[in-house]
Amino acid sequence: MKTIKDVSLSGRRVLVRVDFNVPLNERGEVVDKTRITAALPTIQYLTQNGARVILVSHLGRPKGEKNPKYSLKPVAKALEALLGQSILFCEDCLGEDVKKTAENLRDGEVILLENVRFYKGETDNDPAFARSLASCAEAYVNDAFGTAHRAHASTVGVTSYLSPCVAGFLIEKEITYLGDKISHPQRPLTVILGGAKVSDKISVIDALLEKADCMLIGGAMAYTFSAALGHPTGDSLVERDKLDVASRALAKAKKKNVEILFPVDHVVSSAVDFSSRSVGELKVVQEGEMPDGFGGVDIGPRTIELFTQRIANSKTVLWNGPMGIFEIPGCDQGTFAMAKAIAESPAISIVGGGDSISAIQKSGYASKVSFMSTGGGASLEYLEGKVLPGIAAMDA
Ligand code: ADP
Ligand code: MG
Repeated sequence: MKTIKDVSLSGRRVLVRVDFNVPLNERGEVVDKTRITAALPTIQYLTQNGARVILVSHLGRPKGEKNPKYSLKPVAKALEALLGQSILFCEDCLGEDVKKTAENLRDGEVILLENVRFYKGETDNDPAFARSLASCAEAYVNDAFGTAHRAHASTVGVTSYLSPCVAGFLIEKEITYLGDKISHPQRPLTVILGGAKVSDKISVIDALLEKADCMLIGGAMAYTFSAALGHPTGDSLVERDKLDVASRALAKAKKKNVEILFPVDHVVSSAVDFSSRSVGELKVVQEGEMPDGFGGVDIGPRTIELFTQRIANSKTVLWNGPMGIFEIPGCDQGTFAMAKAIAESPAISIVGGGDSISAIQKSGYASKVSFMSTGGGASLEYLEGKVLPGIAAMDA
């Protein structure tokens, strides 16, 4: 896959697919600028090298209709401030006005187009729509990893009409960390998996059993494995219809010589109320001793010690999924301990998943992580070894 470093885009009109799908408040202001900030290195590299930048993104799910609620106009303002440069906002993503504005662009100038999902042709990857969208530009850069697993007009369709088609720095980084650093890791490679469900992650577990040396399993997912092993699980969240899936993963781990570690003790609660973020009586029990009327809400102190040791002795660590119901105080210790262990380990560390990233940010250790993958579904599919259409469409 070629990147913006491999080609010269000076003096050329470049359509740049970014991910500006940011949260807005009721007044239409951007409340979290993380995604805009993340796109700056690619935009700045392009402008500094004389490209004429035409940014295209989606925001929310307007379902193919123009809807001011999902306008990218507030993003234009936020981007202008962050970039320290005035940018032009087009009230559409295609048409004569866009074409004219693009033709009048000078080297280093930037346009932001209106929400590309105001047209159904975007998610349908309609060729005629892709052609019109592409017609304002000559070359293409994709830097929106989070939508790379979708074959949409702005991620795949336009590449038929533009050349070169290359990746920006964000995509390059995701591919480096989720690809190379996991497929050819510095060993031992330890994978920490948690979160709510085995069913969400089974394909990832399967793929990672081919690569990891050790797998640490926590979160609710651990209880489905526990049940598959015939241990008592009390009121813990168990996916009864996934016991065979868990057993198959265990068999595969054995065959592939991957050491899987499960919690040896648990923090359990008599009642969990998600709406009030409260739990009943909390106590620590050993694995195999789950009392009736109690369910697991976090890994216990001995497990923290066991997992921390493994993380300290790893050269590469990949973490997806919290160890407990970290949103509720008292059930967050295991998750925060993993964040600390990762921060203190010399290993290359990669953290992915919306809840895992918010947990590591809450823990205060985010800056100690080598890479935080923000791709969500795209990251999981990439780890599963699937070919992402948006990546496949880039020049090789
Ligand atoms: P990510 O977004 O990082 O991929 P997931 O969405 O898979 O993570 O899982 C996060 C959710 O898992 C959190 O809401 C957390 O409360 C829940 N969870 C973790 N451990 C447990 C548990 N023991 N019981 C119930 N829910 C749990
Ligand atoms: Mg989640």
